[in-house]
Amino acid sequence: MSAPQQALHQLGVAALGRALAARQVSSVELTQALQARMAQHAGLGAFLATNHETALAEARAADAAIAAGTAGPLTGIPLAHKDIFVTDYARSGLPTTAGSQMLKGYASPFDATVVARLVAAGTVTLGKLNCDEFAMGSANENSAYGPARNPWDATRVPGGSSGGSATAVAARLVPAATGTDTGGSIRQPASFTGITGIKPTYGVCSRYGMVAFASSLDQAGPMARSAEDCALLLSAMSGFDERDATSAERPPQDFHALMLEPRAGASAAKPLQGLRIGLPKEFFPAALAADVNGAVRSALTELEKLGAALVDVSLPRTELSIPVYYLIAPAEASSNLSRFDGVKFGHRAAQHGDLLDMYKKTRAEGFGPEVKRRIMIGTYVLSHGYYDAYYLQAQKLRRMIADDFQACFQHCDVIAGPVAPTVAWALGQQRNPLQDYLADIFTLPGSLAGLPAMSVPAGFAKSEEGGGLPVGLQLIGNYFQEGQLLHTAHALQQATDWHLKEPTL
Ligand code: GLN
Repeated sequence: MSAPQQALHQLGVAALGRALAARQVSSVELTQALQARMAQHAGLGAFLATNHETALAEARAADAAIAAGTAGPLTGIPLAHKDIFVTDYARSGLPTTAGSQMLKGYASPFDATVVARLVAAGTVTLGKLNCDEFAMGSANENSAYGPARNPWDATRVPGGSSGGSATAVAARLVPAATGTDTGGSIRQPASFTGITGIKPTYGVCSRYGMVAFASSLDQAGPMARSAEDCALLLSAMSGFDERDATSAERPPQDFHALMLEPRAGASAAKPLQGLRIGLPKEFFPAALAADVNGAVRSALTELEKLGAALVDVSLPRTELSIPVYYLIAPAEASSNLSRFDGVKFGHRAAQHGDLLDMYKKTRAEGFGPEVKRRIMIGTYVLSHGYYDAYYLQAQKLRRMIADDFQACFQHCDVIAGPVAPTVAWALGQQRNPLQDYLADIFTLPGSLAGLPAMSVPAGFAKSEEGGGLPVGLQLIGNYFQEGQLLHTAHALQQATDWHLKEPTL
């Protein structure tokens, strides 16, 4: 058999699976090729840790499984994990930092469930990926280990908090990566770098071993070059886990099969016939960047050509999702991060007086400014006398935001709009934190409601200031409708080539 036409790094998960199964390439060759590329483009800042020896050992084991005929669809596929997932240090040789000084060099004694499942599926772990400290941020500039850079323009941010994941996938350093999304951290960096990412319904992927930020919002998901590749990964990553108290008790799902399932009444030319796509008017405000609006509208036109019908809907509390999220997420974070006190794990201040002084110095040294800001906001809104005014009020509005979505889903099957109000902004701008919070406006509602949502490449900015940067289309589905989202995105990707465009490095 002939070798694949494209270079190895250009192939996605599905194509690599076929090449590996046909023995056109070995997992060891593939791993070595990507390791060389990672070294060549180390300046992008995508990786926080690599371990070539353990990766090659996994690749050799994968090649043996392929030769023995015991391989699955992901056997031998190299990928990398956001450094918010703990990785068993003894097994992988990979530390876990969550992008924080607090966990510098931390050697986890176990793997996150998502990691363990992908390892069990035969994937090869190339390393750990840069992210904002404790996943708090929208640009990857809150990482204690320096920023990741956008491969389309290295002077721009890749988005965040899963910025390293987005950079690595977009730069073709890895075919796919894991990410996490609390308020947009899979979708927004996917949008900023022209890749595909899905945040499943809250509870679909286990949170066990994900360094906790805001537990009622945190979800894991895949970031890859296509909806098809995301479907393959999500099938392996997801499923009930008794070690996560909020894990959804559902049978394992084959998202690839669900993605391919034809719609009733659809045809090859009109695969989306009968699909009603709701456009919330609040997602298309006058202030939306023309670059974003233009790309999103062109993707919607393609979806219409495929048979979908566009309907107007409303999510009236869209704006409120910003204050609601920025109360609830810091409240939960302030509680989750109380464990970093210098006693059991992580950083401990070298010079200190009594125990209280040790706590204070450890936390002052270990946490960066954004994390401290969130701990202070969270502690404030949970404190006696303010709890009812802020936290309780936010919880009530959260419920109303979720109800607004259910009202929309009376009139449509999928909701569509932009992922972010702009394309990727310049690195090192010293933005006001509020600017970043406001830019989360289109991803927060779906997170607060716990709905599945994805970012799908929708073309490129056309204005001069947009710099030709990628734009993502957001698709939001009702609970557990990941299959329908992936089906819609796959149909779009069968008809368009935005997701195939590569940055020149
Ligand atoms: N940008 C949001 C924040 O800073 C979302 C982060 C995330 O989803 N992890 O909280």
